[in-house]
Amino acid sequence: MMQSHARLLVVSPHLDDAVLSCGLLLTANPSAIVCTVFTAAPRENMSTDWDRQSGFRDAFEAMRARQQEDAEVLQMLHAQPIHLPFRDAQYRDTPSLDALTEALRRTLEAHMPDKVLFPLGLFHSDHTLVSDMCRTEEWNRPFQNALKN
Ligand SMILES: [Zn+2]
Repeated sequence: MMQSHARLLVVSPHLDDAVLSCGLLLTANPSAIVCTVFTAAPRENMSTDWDRQSGFRDAFEAMRARQQEDAEVLQMLHAQPIHLPFRDAQYRDTPSLDALTEALRRTLEAHMPDKVLFPLGLFHSDHTLVSDMCRTEEWNRPFQNALKN
Protein backbone atom coordinates (compact mmCIF):
# COMPACT_ATOMS: atom_id res chain seq x y z
CA MET A 1 0.00 0.00 0.00
CA MET A 2 1.26 3.47 -0.87
CA GLN A 3 1.74 5.68 2.18
CA SER A 4 0.99 9.37 2.28
CA HIS A 5 3.21 11.72 4.28
CA ALA A 6 0.78 14.63 4.22
CA ARG A 7 -0.63 15.31 7.66
CA LEU A 8 -4.19 14.09 7.84
CA LEU A 9 -6.66 15.16 10.52
CA VAL A 10 -9.86 13.18 10.90
CA VAL A 11 -12.71 14.74 12.86
CA SER A 12 -14.49 11.85 14.53
CA PRO A 13 -17.75 12.57 16.36
CA HIS A 14 -17.50 9.47 18.55
CA LEU A 15 -14.65 7.26 19.71
CA ASP A 16 -15.14 4.64 17.00
CA ASP A 17 -16.25 6.64 13.97
CA ALA A 18 -12.84 7.42 12.44
CA VAL A 19 -11.52 3.89 12.72
CA LEU A 20 -14.74 2.25 11.54
CA SER A 21 -15.22 4.72 8.67
CA CYS A 22 -11.68 5.18 7.40
CA GLY A 23 -9.36 2.76 9.15
CA LEU A 24 -7.64 1.82 5.91
CA LEU A 25 -6.94 5.47 5.15
CA LEU A 26 -5.49 5.87 8.66
CA THR A 27 -3.10 2.97 8.04
CA ALA A 28 -1.86 4.76 4.91
CA ASN A 29 -1.29 7.98 6.90
CA PRO A 30 0.73 6.88 9.93
CA SER A 31 1.08 10.37 11.41
CA ALA A 32 -2.62 11.11 11.17
CA ILE A 33 -4.45 12.93 13.94
CA VAL A 34 -7.86 11.68 15.03
CA CYS A 35 -9.74 14.42 16.84
CA THR A 36 -12.70 12.86 18.59
CA VAL A 37 -15.33 15.32 19.74
CA PHE A 38 -17.65 13.50 22.17
CA THR A 39 -15.33 11.69 24.58
CA ALA A 40 -16.44 12.83 28.03
CA ALA A 41 -18.49 10.79 30.45
CA PRO A 42 -21.61 12.45 31.85
CA ARG A 43 -21.16 14.62 34.94
CA GLU A 44 -23.30 12.21 36.97
CA ASN A 45 -23.20 8.51 36.22
CA MET A 46 -26.19 7.07 34.36
CA SER A 47 -27.07 4.04 32.29
CA THR A 48 -28.51 4.54 28.82
CA ASP A 49 -30.07 1.94 26.53
CA TRP A 50 -27.00 2.14 24.29
CA ASP A 51 -24.63 1.59 27.23
CA ARG A 52 -26.57 -1.49 28.39
CA GLN A 53 -27.06 -2.90 24.87
CA SER A 54 -23.30 -2.55 24.35
CA GLY A 55 -22.64 -4.62 27.46
CA PHE A 56 -21.67 -1.88 29.88
CA ARG A 57 -23.04 -1.47 33.38
CA ASP A 58 -23.19 2.31 33.12
CA ALA A 59 -21.90 5.38 31.30
CA PHE A 60 -18.71 5.72 33.33
CA GLU A 61 -17.72 2.13 32.50
CA ALA A 62 -18.68 2.61 28.84
CA MET A 63 -16.70 5.80 28.35
CA ARG A 64 -13.66 4.44 30.20
CA ALA A 65 -13.65 1.33 28.00
CA ARG A 66 -14.24 3.32 24.80
CA GLN A 67 -11.43 5.77 25.59
CA GLN A 68 -9.03 2.90 26.30
CA GLU A 69 -10.06 1.08 23.13
CA ASP A 70 -9.55 4.26 21.11
CA ALA A 71 -6.06 4.78 22.55
CA GLU A 72 -5.09 1.17 21.80
CA VAL A 73 -6.36 1.07 18.23
CA LEU A 74 -4.94 4.48 17.31
CA GLN A 75 -1.58 3.40 18.71
CA MET A 76 -1.75 0.32 16.45
CA LEU A 77 -2.43 2.63 13.50
CA HIS A 78 0.33 5.07 14.55
CA ALA A 79 -2.24 7.84 14.74
CA GLN A 80 -2.35 10.58 17.35
CA PRO A 81 -5.57 10.85 19.39
CA ILE A 82 -7.04 14.15 20.50
CA HIS A 83 -10.05 13.94 22.78
CA LEU A 84 -12.28 16.97 23.06
CA PRO A 85 -14.24 17.15 26.33
CA PHE A 86 -17.80 17.15 24.98
CA ARG A 87 -20.57 14.70 25.83
CA ASP A 88 -22.43 12.37 23.50
CA ALA A 89 -26.08 13.35 22.92
CA GLN A 90 -27.27 10.32 24.89
CA TYR A 91 -25.79 11.98 28.00
CA ARG A 92 -28.00 15.04 27.47
CA ASP A 93 -25.34 17.74 27.49
CA THR A 94 -24.91 18.73 23.85
CA PRO A 95 -22.43 21.60 23.37
CA SER A 96 -23.32 24.78 21.55
CA LEU A 97 -22.18 25.17 17.97
CA ASP A 98 -19.97 28.08 19.14
CA ALA A 99 -18.22 25.96 21.80
CA LEU A 100 -17.65 23.19 19.31
CA THR A 101 -16.38 25.57 16.66
CA GLU A 102 -13.92 27.20 19.06
CA ALA A 103 -12.51 23.88 20.29
CA LEU A 104 -12.07 22.48 16.81
CA ARG A 105 -10.68 25.76 15.44
CA ARG A 106 -8.00 25.69 18.17
CA THR A 107 -7.20 22.10 17.20
CA LEU A 108 -6.79 23.07 13.55
CA GLU A 109 -4.59 26.04 14.39
CA ALA A 110 -2.40 23.91 16.65
CA HIS A 111 -1.82 21.19 14.07
CA MET A 112 -2.39 22.85 10.66
CA PRO A 113 -3.03 19.58 8.83
CA ASP A 114 -2.73 19.29 5.06
CA LYS A 115 -6.02 17.42 4.78
CA VAL A 116 -9.13 17.27 6.97
CA LEU A 117 -11.87 14.68 6.85
CA PHE A 118 -15.17 15.21 8.62
CA PRO A 119 -18.48 13.34 8.75
CA LEU A 120 -21.29 13.90 6.29
CA GLY A 121 -23.75 14.05 9.18
CA LEU A 122 -26.30 11.66 7.78
CA PHE A 123 -28.15 10.34 10.82
CA HIS A 124 -26.98 10.75 14.42
CA SER A 125 -27.50 14.24 15.90
CA ASP A 126 -23.86 14.34 17.08
CA HIS A 127 -22.69 13.58 13.53
CA THR A 128 -24.97 16.29 12.12
CA LEU A 129 -23.72 18.85 14.65
CA VAL A 130 -20.06 18.11 13.85
CA SER A 131 -20.73 18.12 10.13
CA ASP A 132 -22.58 21.45 10.32
CA MET A 133 -19.73 22.96 12.32
CA CYS A 134 -17.10 21.73 9.86
CA ARG A 135 -18.96 23.50 7.06
CA THR A 136 -18.93 26.90 8.80
CA GLU A 137 -16.72 29.69 7.54
CA GLU A 138 -15.50 30.37 11.07
CA TRP A 139 -14.00 26.91 11.40
CA ASN A 140 -12.43 26.97 7.95
CA ARG A 141 -10.74 30.36 8.45
CA PRO A 142 -7.30 28.97 9.48
CA PHE A 143 -7.18 27.10 6.18
CA GLN A 144 -8.26 30.11 4.19
CA ASN A 145 -5.53 32.21 5.84
CA ALA A 146 -2.91 29.50 5.23
CA LEU A 147 -3.81 29.37 1.56
CA LYS A 148 -3.40 33.16 1.23
CA ASN A 149 0.10 33.08 2.79
ZN1 LIG B 1 -20.71 8.14 15.77
